[in-house]
Amino acid sequence: MVKNNLDGQFNELKRELMEYGPNSDISLLDKAWEFTKIAHAGQKRFSGDPYVTHELETAKILAAWKLDLTSIIAGLLHDTVDEGAAKLTDIKGEFGEDVAHLVDGVTRVSYLKLRGSQEEQFVENLRKMFLAMAKDLRVVLVKLADRLHNMQTLSFVPEEKQKRIARETLEIFAPLAERLGMGGVKTQLDDLSFPYVYPEEYEKVKKLSQAHYKEAEKHIQVMRKSLLKILAKENVKPTIQARKKHLYSLWKKLQCAEVSWDFDKVLDIVAMRIIVNTIPECYAALGIVYRQYTPVPHLGVSDFIAQPKPNGYQSIHTKVFGPKGRIVEVQIRTQAMHEEAEFGIAAHWAYSDTKAKDVKSEILEQRGGVIEKKLSWVKELAEWQKEIKDSKEFLEAVKFDALKERIFIFSPKGDVFDLPLGATPIDFAYAVHTDLPRYVKSAKANGKMVPLNYKLKSGEVVEIEKTKLPKDPSSGWSEFVATTTARREIGKYLRKSEEKS
Ligand code: MN
Repeated sequence: MVKNNLDGQFNELKRELMEYGPNSDISLLDKAWEFTKIAHAGQKRFSGDPYVTHELETAKILAAWKLDLTSIIAGLLHDTVDEGAAKLTDIKGEFGEDVAHLVDGVTRVSYLKLRGSQEEQFVENLRKMFLAMAKDLRVVLVKLADRLHNMQTLSFVPEEKQKRIARETLEIFAPLAERLGMGGVKTQLDDLSFPYVYPEEYEKVKKLSQAHYKEAEKHIQVMRKSLLKILAKENVKPTIQARKKHLYSLWKKLQCAEVSWDFDKVLDIVAMRIIVNTIPECYAALGIVYRQYTPVPHLGVSDFIAQPKPNGYQSIHTKVFGPKGRIVEVQIRTQAMHEEAEFGIAAHWAYSDTKAKDVKSEILEQRGGVIEKKLSWVKELAEWQKEIKDSKEFLEAVKFDALKERIFIFSPKGDVFDLPLGATPIDFAYAVHTDLPRYVKSAKANGKMVPLNYKLKSGEVVEIEKTKLPKDPSSGWSEFVATTTARREIGKYLRKSEEKS
């Protein structure tokens, strides 16, 4: 019986939840399950499955991210109002304010349509999503879990809808997951969308890459064996994995000019990932890797442990000459950093109502600063949606700034700034302080003079040389700046000076 099978799966979820969240009032979960079954009675998915399978799978994904009970209940109920027969007031009465707010937030977002009949409507829903997100970030986590299951079952959806849903996933939800530091979710969403959005390219990469993946993996296994032996002697017992570059990001890399479909130039097609327990062990492992294998000159080492990426990512990356002189990327991180890289912001709510709180509090404390940064970005989005009335301008701000691929730039003091790809020294100056651009004389990147419209590269140290006296921002800057802040500040200034004249 399908029904019994679903109840069985629900009980499985409940058991899992009791294991990591024993202090929660688990009876609410039973109530939510009965509620959602009634709300969706008789409804089916395109796959022919009862509709509640989708509610259940969404909750299961949230449980896999170890989210709190409130999120998981919201996952179980997320479509009961929009698709089912429930009313939001009932949810509020039965499950409380928080669950109701999450369900409401997800419901509003569910109308998000990227290439819908009306772009206006799409933008309006995007605005609502950022508003709901700013109030409670769990809205977007439930939405991401919902989208993940929808993508996993996309093959059942009518063909004319598939491409739109997949494109929306690729352009909005995958970048959103990435900005929230949820690398695991981002790669899944990318690869689930890829075949629908670019079917021919997908087939091509898939076919051509097989042999290269295999060879690189074999190579890493050889290194793995010899490193495990030496590390054990030094009392480091790591997990060593071969991390395959996911297909969509491999395709993007193959397309770029320096690589132009030469697989041998994709040095991280399969990377070696060494996972240890503590930070000192990371550096010990790095030393041991270098004892065995020569680092590649100039490609050197990136220490994202000392200097995490703006989305919180921490790891040491280095490239070495492996056996037979083949270049291999090695990534070294702790287990906690690994979880953070997979689940990102979700880790903030993880364990929040468990007995194991004390054990985890240290990890949560470490994450505190990172989470602050992530939240400040979400708050910025909510600010934009209030300030930018023009919906076209708003959509551009979101797509070409907030959800654009990020680079990170250092000030000479070592402060890190998170900017969209294509940002220039002027964008950097605005990010440092909105007054700084008025004093810009010239700019240096990694010690070399660059023009003010120079497109910065991730990891560069940027120095602004200042004039003594302030001057007006140049109207020409608006031609090349990449950030919404810079564009808006320049616009404000120009409008002001027009009014004066
Ligand atoms: Mn749904």
